Amino acid sequence: MKREDVKDYKKNIPDNNAGKNDVAEGDIRHSSGKKYKRPVRRKKQNIKSPLIIGLIFSALVLLVIVCSFGIDKVMNGNADSASADVVKKETDNASGDSQHESETSEEISKEDETKDETTIEETTQVQSTTAVNTSDDKDEYPGVKKVYLTFDDGPSSITSDILDVLDCYGVKATFFTVCNTSESAIQNMQRIVNSGHTIAIHSVSHKYSTVYASLDSFKKDVLDMQQFIYENTGYKTFFYRFPGGSSNTIAQCDIGECIQFLDEAGFEYFDWNVESGDATGNMIPKDTIVNNVLSSLGDRDEYMVLMHDAEPKKTTLEALPEIIEGIQSRGYQILPVTENTKPVHHRRKNN
Ligand code: ZN
Repeated sequence: MKREDVKDYKKNIPDNNAGKNDVAEGDIRHSSGKKYKRPVRRKKQNIKSPLIIGLIFSALVLLVIVCSFGIDKVMNGNADSASADVVKKETDNASGDSQHESETSEEISKEDETKDETTIEETTQVQSTTAVNTSDDKDEYPGVKKVYLTFDDGPSSITSDILDVLDCYGVKATFFTVCNTSESAIQNMQRIVNSGHTIAIHSVSHKYSTVYASLDSFKKDVLDMQQFIYENTGYKTFFYRFPGGSSNTIAQCDIGECIQFLDEAGFEYFDWNVESGDATGNMIPKDTIVNNVLSSLGDRDEYMVLMHDAEPKKTTLEALPEIIEGIQSRGYQILPVTENTKPVHHRRKNN
């Protein structure tokens, strides 16, 4: 009940009684028409009226005070419980956020996607999440603990050696490639496809200032690299990885718009949830790379490992056998990215 209603309630009590008196007097005037009755009734009223009016008035005042107090108490009680609800919700949200903060980027991105549905970008993310769930339903390896080995920035002179190691263990990986027009690089691209690995798009130039200069330049970079791969391998790939990841803070253009473009054009992008650490410099000790990967494997069913097959990353090549053996000994299957792979998406830090 609102305070305005309380005022009306207070106002109505005396008005109703006044109305009754009016009606009673009217009845007397209009229904009786007998002159001897009117003085008698008036006399009785006159004798007791000060006392009755006083009592009625006191009772009404008391009633109004009691009602007012009671209603106020109810209203305050409701307000308190409403406040408590808000506090509880805020507390729940806070604890939920902190819980998600401690989880991997994949689940963080899910939280992120469902949190802000007001912007176009976030709406696009939600749609993308739906697609991810659909992919889950089509999982060609249900119940299998999966690790995806991914190599960025090749092909280079070490790519053929990496392919040799993968062949030796009979495992397939995914290569997010850049535009290298050398004959050996193109042969490696063809070998990647012919050997059953997955070839994917990384960038033509891999120069942030060029790729992310605008949405148009981003589109051109993606489509040109797709075309380059197609012309040299006959395979049209729709798998993509952002240079620097989708969480990079370097892009001048809106990553949300880039993602919207990818989604509408039928691409899927893949970030990672395990870092080998080989991007922090060249010649990172082999054991460090091995340990970075294997120590990241926990209870999850899916890990996507970021590695590089650019020419200087020779210790990545050296680390690869121990990485593969370590992954397999922990009960994981090493698989290439396919259209049924659940993508890992980072929480976006840009826009
Ligand atoms: Zn890269």
